[in-house]
Amino acid sequence: MPLREFDTIVIGLGAMGSAAVYQLAKAGKHVLGIDRFSPPHDRGSSHGDTRITRLAIGEGRHLTPFVRRSHDIWREIERETGVELLTVTGGLIISNPFATAHTHVPQFFENTIAAANAHGIPHELLDATAIRRRFPQFRVHDNDAGYFEPQAGFLRVDPCIRSQLQLAQKFGAEIATNEKTTGVVQSADGITVETDRTTYRARHAILSVGAWVPDFIDRKVAPLFRIFRQELHWFDLEGPIADFEPGRFPIFIWEMQGAGKAIYGFPAIDGARGGIKIASERYDATTTADSPNSKTSDAAEMHRNLIAGNIPRVGSRCLRTETCLYTVTPDAGFVIDRHPDMDKVIFVSACSGHGFKHSAAIGEALAQRVVDGNSRLDLSPFGFRRFTH
Ligand SMILES: Cc1cc2nc3c(=O)[nH]c(=O)nc-3n(C[C@H](O)[C@H](O)[C@H](O)COP(=O)(O)OP(=O)(O)OC[C@H]3O[C@@H](n4cnc5c(N)ncnc54)[C@H](O)[C@@H]3O)c2cc1C
Repeated sequence: MPLREFDTIVIGLGAMGSAAVYQLAKAGKHVLGIDRFSPPHDRGSSHGDTRITRLAIGEGRHLTPFVRRSHDIWREIERETGVELLTVTGGLIISNPFATAHTHVPQFFENTIAAANAHGIPHELLDATAIRRRFPQFRVHDNDAGYFEPQAGFLRVDPCIRSQLQLAQKFGAEIATNEKTTGVVQSADGITVETDRTTYRARHAILSVGAWVPDFIDRKVAPLFRIFRQELHWFDLEGPIADFEPGRFPIFIWEMQGAGKAIYGFPAIDGARGGIKIASERYDATTTADSPNSKTSDAAEMHRNLIAGNIPRVGSRCLRTETCLYTVTPDAGFVIDRHPDMDKVIFVSACSGHGFKHSAAIGEALAQRVVDGNSRLDLSPFGFRRFTH
């Protein structure tokens, strides 16, 4: 049988790949998306109901154009599909001079305020009294300070991925699920993609395989991408749930004093039985995407040390736990660049625990790069070179 040929093949259809395949199909490209599982699924980095989105990006103010454009795209997709993707609840970041943990990068709180000022993002700075008055659910210390961003909120992850894959197919994309890519080879006349079922040919490829990056890059480059398993917990709420529902309760990130950790959380979105999702981050042991999950749940310890005294109405009963993979680079930034060994393959690793909110715009930028050779949003901060020079 002759090999099937495409303009572009997108390998990995999680947050990044589903956005890329949608945008390429919309641009009229003959595109194939391949995933080893059936996205949305719970094996990679893009599950667990929700992701925080915020406009002032403490991890780097160059990211704000990506999240802004992503919000526009999510709204377009919502209009197209009638599916709710983005819920604006407001976002509260709490920190203090004695915080012993940072969120992804040092000076995250200060950087967030600077990014908000640089990009004209509406926000309020709250002292402890103002936080208590506005959000009595949090028991803050007198020296805690708050950054409140009214336009922050959360994304519903499965619907984001599913909608983009469905729209991609509507625009003519082919989607191959439960098909594992086993090799990508570039030659003078294009790209050959081997899978466990067949072989395809394409002019371009996008490699967006999340925590499976080590399978597709040289062993010398692979250590740039460390994989950490994270836990998400849903805790029971005590008393009226209305105080924790969207509209009354924001998404939050809280860099605590003395605790050595930050926690983040979401409003209760599934009624009384769904509880409230709160998580922390763990960087104690690296793993691989295919390692079995041998870790024991840290829900009880987390509740005792980080939640009980700080958000008193969150009960100790953990209703549900999920694990999810972070792919973390040395500077917690993204890598979106030509593959080090194949210049027709675009390599995308946009995680370090904060990539989802930018994914719709990253997908669009990737498509523009394939179609026009360049993207409207600047991808240059995401090059491999920053680690090698
Ligand atoms: C616990 C947790 C909390 C987070 N919180 C936030 C947040 O609040 N806000 C935010 O913006 N971001 C957050 N993030 C980060 C965000 O979720 C990630 O940046 C994003 O999900 C990464 O998407 P991805 O497409 O790179 O990876 P994935 O979604 O994992 O997609 C990779 C895909 O590649 C496929 N694949 C792998 N190997 C192969 C192969 N050989 N052949 C075919 N397919 C293959 C996989 O099956 C998978 O579907 C969080 C991440 C985690 C884990």
